[in-house]
Amino acid sequence: MTTLYSATPIQIGGVTLPNRYVMGSMHTGLESKPEHFDELARYYAERAKGGAGLIVTGGFAPNYAGRMKDDPCTFDSEDQIDAHRKITSAVHKENGKIILQILHAGRYGYHSAIVAPSAIRSPINRDEPRALDEQEILQTIEDYAKTTELAIKAGYDGVEIMASEGYLISQFLANRTNHREDSWGGRLSNRAKLALEIVKRVRHTLGEAPILSYRISAIELVEGGLEEEDIIWLATQLEKHGVNCLATGIGWHEATVPTIAAVVPHAAFADVITKVKAAVTIPVTASNRINLPSTAEKLLASGQADLISMARPFLADPYFVKKALTQQSEKISVCIGCNQACLDHYFTNETISCLVNPRVMRENHFTDSIVTTPKKIAVVGGGVAGLAAALEAAKRGHHVTIFEAEKQLGGQFTLAANVPGKSDYALFLQGYIEQLRSEGVIFALGKKVSADNLIGSAFDEVIIASGIRSRQLDIPGIDDPRVVSYTDILSGNIEAGKNVLIIGAGGIGHDVALYVSSPQHKNHSEQSTLAAFRKHWGIGQARAPENSLRNVTMLKRSTGSFGKSLGKTTGWILRQELKDFNVQQIAGVTYKKIDEEGLHIDTDQQSTILPADTIIVCAGQESENSLTKPLADAGISVHVIGGANVAEELDAKRAIAEGATLGNKL
Ligand code: NAP
Ligand code: SF4
Repeated sequence: MTTLYSATPIQIGGVTLPNRYVMGSMHTGLESKPEHFDELARYYAERAKGGAGLIVTGGFAPNYAGRMKDDPCTFDSEDQIDAHRKITSAVHKENGKIILQILHAGRYGYHSAIVAPSAIRSPINRDEPRALDEQEILQTIEDYAKTTELAIKAGYDGVEIMASEGYLISQFLANRTNHREDSWGGRLSNRAKLALEIVKRVRHTLGEAPILSYRISAIELVEGGLEEEDIIWLATQLEKHGVNCLATGIGWHEATVPTIAAVVPHAAFADVITKVKAAVTIPVTASNRINLPSTAEKLLASGQADLISMARPFLADPYFVKKALTQQSEKISVCIGCNQACLDHYFTNETISCLVNPRVMRENHFTDSIVTTPKKIAVVGGGVAGLAAALEAAKRGHHVTIFEAEKQLGGQFTLAANVPGKSDYALFLQGYIEQLRSEGVIFALGKKVSADNLIGSAFDEVIIASGIRSRQLDIPGIDDPRVVSYTDILSGNIEAGKNVLIIGAGGIGHDVALYVSSPQHKNHSEQSTLAAFRKHWGIGQARAPENSLRNVTMLKRSTGSFGKSLGKTTGWILRQELKDFNVQQIAGVTYKKIDEEGLHIDTDQQSTILPADTIIVCAGQESENSLTKPLADAGISVHVIGGANVAEELDAKRAIAEGATLGNKL
């Protein structure tokens, strides 16, 4: 058996980590709620149990001014120690290691009393910050030391100083945001003084043994940010000042380049991380869009990094590391990079969870106990709702059969996997199906099951997860052969013509617009996908998006701007891509008819005929649950979940959560 680099221990200061996987920092929404630290403790402990070599908490502010939101997630007083001890004890009980991240948000705080080196507003914040005076800067350094002291008292194995992604320390380091004329501004050594003084004080407070990790920007991706040589100089200075691990971060939050969304190819920023690694002798952690053990292993084996930091993949599968290190990588639930239940929740003031793993932050609501009397359960429909129900039920010891009319499992996820930037959806399905297989779930594929089949088969419970069917429209001429459904297009059954009209502008309408515009779904190699991504977004070169394959126009009946329903942290990327591909958008449309001239529409201003080779209907869905009534009438215990339950606003997050919750309860 070959030795995995990721399985080798590593020493950081006086702490030995059992492997090379770090659960990177991620806000959960509970940092400001000590009354919920039992849940937070269970969440982290689960990841320690799953093999994470080191865990970094979500960011805690060293003082009130540095809070992210009005709801303060500070760690600045002795009376908070007991709550934090719940976390450290739970993690240590599972033989894990955990460090506290200290994060001063600076001008990124979402409250009206934000501070920064200079009074310059961030493009992603409404409020202008107040410039800190010298006394306040000195006090901020002391506050970092104080939080460090509290962290050690609470049992943490060290701290991480968050100094990338555009937060306060980044703001001091960069000319973009630091216009000071005193000794904290001007040349780089002055701008770096805050970072280095904090490091000195924190190391002094920690003593020699605990971990002092510093999250350094490996690339800034903003005008006026640090240049490569500045970053290298800073890395060497940090090592000299007592940092014993450099965790790399990528880009500022205000950068107009995607850095963690699904559209970012795996390990897309490995080249800049390698440069940081080459500059220092302390361990360097690689991050951003590393969601597979194979990618992690490659980076470690090639010496590009010493540790791999992942945050979201630990949400998608808390047992990622255990599986990766015991030859069971094929059973990992792969993070699809959607942000829908993690970051989007955080930024809409909801506690985070995970679209593919609804147990996240609800660990206490799920049971792992095996039932004493296993039942025979039929799941009708192999979309993600059905798969989630089946997996949870099978894990509890039930005998589960999935009936799926198609020859493959996955439903709408199978289609989504064909959208440019969403290929991880297919990897997720593979991993999930492997888990179902290993739990002994039986797959009955390729044949539609009838109510009679089920009534005669002595199932104790039937779960109807038969999903949705595309909404049929009532427009004269809708049966024209040029009119197709999005399922025909995304499945590759029908190739769109040159001039494309899309009826409906929800999430699927936008995805389909990208699919028909972008040359990127044509089975490009990993290397050419990375090259195209860098060119599209202008990373290390001038921005030069590819040309669209087709002339595409999106239409919707409602007025107002397009793409409002897209994800909070990813919608801007899709909107920008469609703009780059010159996709036209017409709102406030009334569909009149379709004839040989094209699609006739009325808008406020005029009646128009839009010529088209292909008209793709993306007008939402209706539930498909025709088996429910006959089964219920026959006295069978029936549960309806996912799109079969409610098709309106159907999203995978709700479907999977419904399935998993039901499956776990049976
Ligand atoms: P959707 O978001 O409900 O959008 C349906 C679209 O069809 C709307 O734009 C609506 O616009 C139009 N429509 C509805 N009834 C119509 C009718 N009778 N005639 C003509 N047009 C009609 O549904 P979806 O796009 O199918 O997406 C399904 C779910 O998946 C959603 O929850 C979505 O958020 C999620 N999803 C998200 C993404 C993403 O975030 N990238 C991608 C895929 C799917 P008008 O009423 O204005 O015409
Ligand atoms: Fe990954 Fe999406 Fe889950 Fe976030 S919600 S952890 S991006 S799969």
